[in-house]
Amino acid sequence: MKPTQAPTIRLSDYTQPPFWIKTVDLHFTLHPTATRVRSTIEFTANSDRTDGPHDLRLHGQDLKLISAALNGTALKSDEILLDAEGLTIPADLVPQDGFTWTAEVEINPEANTSLNGLYMSNGMYCTQCEAEGFRKITYSYDRPDVMAIYTVSIDGDSPVLLSNGNKQGHGKWHDPHPKPAYLFALVAGDLVAHTDSFTTMSGREVALEIWVRPGDEDKCAYAMDALKRSMRWDEVEYGREYDLDLFMIVAVDDFNMGAMENKGLNIFNSKYVLASPQTATDRDYELIEGIIAHEYFHNWTGNRITCRDWFQLCLKEGLTVFRDQQFSGDERSHAVNRIENVLQLRARQFREDAGPLAHPLRPEEYIEINNFYTATVYEKGAEVIGMLRTLVGAENYRKALDLYFERHDNQACTIEHWIKVFEDACDTDLSQFALWYAQAGTPKIGVTERFEGDTLTLTFTQTNPDTPGQTDKKPQVVPIRTGFLGADGSEAAPEQLLTLTDNEQSFEINGLSAHPTVSYLRGFSAPVILNRTVDNATRAFLLTHDTDPFNQWEAGRDYAMSLLTDMATKGTNPDAAFTAAMLAVATNDALDPAFRALVLSLPSEDALAQSLFDAGQTPDPDAIHTARKSLAKAMADTMADDLPNLYASLAVSGPYTPDATDAGKRSLRAAVLSLISKHEPDCATARAQFAAADNMTEQLSALSTLISNGQGAEATATFYDQWKADRLVIDKWFTVQVSAAPPDTAVDVAKTLTQHPDFDWKNPNRYRSLIAGFAMMNPAGFHRKDGRGYEFFADWLIKLDPVNPQTTARMCGGFETWRRYDASRQGLMRKQLARIAALPNLSKDTAEITGKILGD
Ligand code: ZN
Repeated sequence: MKPTQAPTIRLSDYTQPPFWIKTVDLHFTLHPTATRVRSTIEFTANSDRTDGPHDLRLHGQDLKLISAALNGTALKSDEILLDAEGLTIPADLVPQDGFTWTAEVEINPEANTSLNGLYMSNGMYCTQCEAEGFRKITYSYDRPDVMAIYTVSIDGDSPVLLSNGNKQGHGKWHDPHPKPAYLFALVAGDLVAHTDSFTTMSGREVALEIWVRPGDEDKCAYAMDALKRSMRWDEVEYGREYDLDLFMIVAVDDFNMGAMENKGLNIFNSKYVLASPQTATDRDYELIEGIIAHEYFHNWTGNRITCRDWFQLCLKEGLTVFRDQQFSGDERSHAVNRIENVLQLRARQFREDAGPLAHPLRPEEYIEINNFYTATVYEKGAEVIGMLRTLVGAENYRKALDLYFERHDNQACTIEHWIKVFEDACDTDLSQFALWYAQAGTPKIGVTERFEGDTLTLTFTQTNPDTPGQTDKKPQVVPIRTGFLGADGSEAAPEQLLTLTDNEQSFEINGLSAHPTVSYLRGFSAPVILNRTVDNATRAFLLTHDTDPFNQWEAGRDYAMSLLTDMATKGTNPDAAFTAAMLAVATNDALDPAFRALVLSLPSEDALAQSLFDAGQTPDPDAIHTARKSLAKAMADTMADDLPNLYASLAVSGPYTPDATDAGKRSLRAAVLSLISKHEPDCATARAQFAAADNMTEQLSALSTLISNGQGAEATATFYDQWKADRLVIDKWFTVQVSAAPPDTAVDVAKTLTQHPDFDWKNPNRYRSLIAGFAMMNPAGFHRKDGRGYEFFADWLIKLDPVNPQTTARMCGGFETWRRYDASRQGLMRKQLARIAALPNLSKDTAEITGKILGD
């Protein structure tokens, strides 16, 4: 690994700060290149720190210090020790029982391309302070265990001047709730509001405002509706009421992530706010609903109760993802949501957990905390809370959450606090369960069955794989919901929750008249890899009969996975029984169309590569691509007579609505369209759909089908002309071309598109739409044998790193799977990683990630 100056931060080094902060007063004089920030900060003694006297050490980065004073006395320049990370005032100058710090700094928002701190997006000022952006705004304690009351005033030309809390006048704000610096926010610009209001459960009126650029105000209705539903849901399900007079959301175009839960002033990537039927897909609507809910729910799980330090990140993120998943399940279909969440968990988190970036839910060290906003922290974090709820039951879960809010309101907490709340509320010992937070890697579960007399004996094994820096792991608590199906498909015995705690463990189920078909891990009750020996007849049986919809879907997927594995590695042919089973599902009107669409969609190329690697084989990206195409073709052949009718019957009548019922029909119809096109050399059906579509979902699925069949040139041009003024739609236009392109042309398509005048690569959405669209969504194109895919990707990572380290480091994950592949591809990927790692001014973000991926 390239030597790096950046220090490693360790959980074991945590100490409380020497002082606390009571209040922070900030005054901003905005200017694009020279914004002035005056601060007044009240420090008090921390009586727990008896090891004084203490220096005053404040965080600060890229700040020009104009002046500073302690208790009103100006500090001379030789009394302030400045360095790249902050400043130090020697202890002998610092009144140890408390003092007032005042300072003025100058910052340059226009030069801030990192999108961290105060920056500009399309002429508008905005901030992003999580995790450590506040230190780029002024000198202070930028750590989450220091919570203070903020008062803000803003001077500037912009008509709209926003900050956290309640409004006290134009550009004047007061937030009565103590908060850590990472929740501070400021927005200023020429913005318009979509407004509404909400009456809370205790009868208080809350004003709701969604602030957007002029012209976007007609695209806020869905986000507003989702916000009001989230507010009500949190009252009903968790007893949580909103706590300010005003709740604001601002949409910005330049944003590194999805959104940010700043107190009372959530800031969103505009793609997760703005929607109209013509410009947003059903999936976009679903994501908007989920992310609005997520950020709103943070008000209690994150803001009122925050994290003591960044190692505890999953305390707020895992819980808040779990809550937004519960909400989406309640608002839509639980079965479909669960399947979608597990698909994403496997695609992102299992992939991470199986590679060089694997880390425990609560990491023990980091170099750059922004690198730990991971699928593991978010998604595995949510799974662990789901398991807790399964283990203690819904009622106890609610009791524990009530206790959590009561005991820890206005505190900065750790995972230990969280676990203790459950132990106290549910009178249970969770010391073994807590291993989920400490051990990385996806547990592998094996199982065998023995039937004798009237008794079925299930013997489970549990293996916890080695991960970077961790070996010899202990067995974890794995709750396995298990069903038992009779030959007629009825439940032969009541479902059981079998909880594994050992590396090997048996369970007996008595009173059975015959050996049942066992349905393991219903609802995906634990984030594990379950290996069972099963034949295709059993898979087909479960696909038809399982009463648990998740496992019904899982059976079909497992069936497809096993066929595709054989096709890709042994060149076998598709199986007629499989395609017949798919036809039966596709045409079964008793099943929800959204569910049918999920059954029909084959495992992704990346999922197949991962599964082959897990099974000790070397995946061949071309063979996988070909196998997947030929299985789809075989499905189309078997279904040929039924597809046109099915396609016609799924047409949604009436005006577009994004609700789950209509969206489900459209998703099944898109799957059918893709199959129909296998028999149409001219893609007539897709062309007709493209021409007739009155909504983005149908227009885009038609375009994608046309491009993947090599018929997309004309539609691609038409689409661009129609949408060139809409930046979010043009993002989709870039993505669909690189993701649907045939693998042999994909890298050239991508290269050509980087020359397009609309390829504004400093905008993270645009960059991701093309660069990640190619590297992550076109695996056979990315992994082409000659290495040109890797080289192209690395060129662009190198270009972005000096501009936006956070997004660059995140995107390096495209290389995290290099160990799966053959020696030649491994060598080509390592060569590109080494080229990046050797750059002289590489960011610490990207240095940490590339170092870990290379693993040397
Ligand atoms: Zn979050």
